Amino acid sequence: MKHQFLLLLCLLLAVACCKKPAPAQPTPAQPPPPSAKEVTMNKPSEWNKLTPEEERVIVGKGTERAGSGEYWNHKAPGYYVCRRCSAPLYRSEDKFDSHCGWPSFDAEIPGSVKKTPDADGSRTEITCARCDGHLGHVFTGEGFTAKNTRHCVNSISMKFVSAALGDTQVGINLDTQKAVFASGCFWGTEFFLQKFPGVVSTTCGYAGGHKENPTYKEVCGHETGHLEVVEMEFDPKKTSYEALAKFFFETHDFEQKNGQGPDIGPQYLSAVFCQNEEQKQVIEKLIAQLKAKGLKPATQVRGADKFWPAETYHQDYYDRKGSTPYCHAYRKIFD
Ligand SMILES: [Zn+2]
Repeated sequence: MKHQFLLLLCLLLAVACCKKPAPAQPTPAQPPPPSAKEVTMNKPSEWNKLTPEEERVIVGKGTERAGSGEYWNHKAPGYYVCRRCSAPLYRSEDKFDSHCGWPSFDAEIPGSVKKTPDADGSRTEITCARCDGHLGHVFTGEGFTAKNTRHCVNSISMKFVSAALGDTQVGINLDTQKAVFASGCFWGTEFFLQKFPGVVSTTCGYAGGHKENPTYKEVCGHETGHLEVVEMEFDPKKTSYEALAKFFFETHDFEQKNGQGPDIGPQYLSAVFCQNEEQKQVIEKLIAQLKAKGLKPATQVRGADKFWPAETYHQDYYDRKGSTPYCHAYRKIFD
């Protein structure tokens, strides 16, 4: 009897144990992700405290000695974020060896870096678009890489974040799409399109010609066949290509055949450089809608073409000058 009771007790205990949830397994150690606070450090009160040497470069616009920084020869995969506000600035894929003793990149993460020509016009300063901390200078036309651009950045202005943390952990949205539009003088095209909600970054440049790395003088001299264009990155979660394309049509005279406004010449024609078949279908649909309204669009529908960034003094022209375009204006056309 005692035996049977013990057996029953064991059985009951076994059943009771089975009903208990399995004890949680300890999770393997993960690298600490940057905190949400780090990813959205918009206010100066949230920024990282700087050492005197960091302050000399980042606030005082100083330069570290060539070859002395932490990252000039650093090749690990990952991201470089702002030392002061942790905003993502550069990707290791865009880093190249220029043998100059400072980290060199031929592209920034779209929208992350502000470019300002020095007062004497000789160089273009680059600063963090979020906190305006000094990064270094950007140079074009040196021929180091196909993008022909060198962001020469002080190591001390940045902090490296390993790729193991992933894009979203460092607050990077790499899920942007590209669009390229031509509507006359690219200063005016950029002025409007860069303000469209969902546009992450814009660059004035040249496309559609036959010469490598054309200059403004060559394009204006009609030697290269290029059009003045604006290349942009937009966030498809915030806007659609169709909305952007409608705005493009609504901000210039797409019926003009010989240029735009007072700017006459083949470099000022209205054109769309479609990056894929979907974009082409959107543009053809909108052109059909314009024709149905009795309008006569002269806009060329072209395929993707090599984009050459224009000289830095053409970038953000009207915003830097504090003026507005003479050749572009908004008028509502689409419903
Ligand atoms: Zn910053």
